[in-house]
Amino acid sequence: MTKRLQTYQGNGVEVTFDPNICTHSAKCVRGLPAVFDTRRQRWVDVDAASADEIIAQVAKCPSGALQARKL
Ligand code: SF4
Repeated sequence: MTKRLQTYQGNGVEVTFDPNICTHSAKCVRGLPAVFDTRRQRWVDVDAASADEIIAQVAKCPSGALQARKL
């Protein structure tokens, strides 16, 4: 079954996550653990770092499951 695209907005940034293509490399949770914490149901906290830090970390996502843009 296809999982729904997740969208997180705030703090001047929009992050989207496509669970269907995530390869679970965990680069996001290791790189910026305050923002990306899979123990939370809403696992991306866009208020936990600056927009630039979040965008830089998202750019390292190897699968492209995470995408980010400034608002
Ligand atoms: S870095 Fe990208 S591919 Fe790796 S766990 Fe995070 S969202 Fe998934």
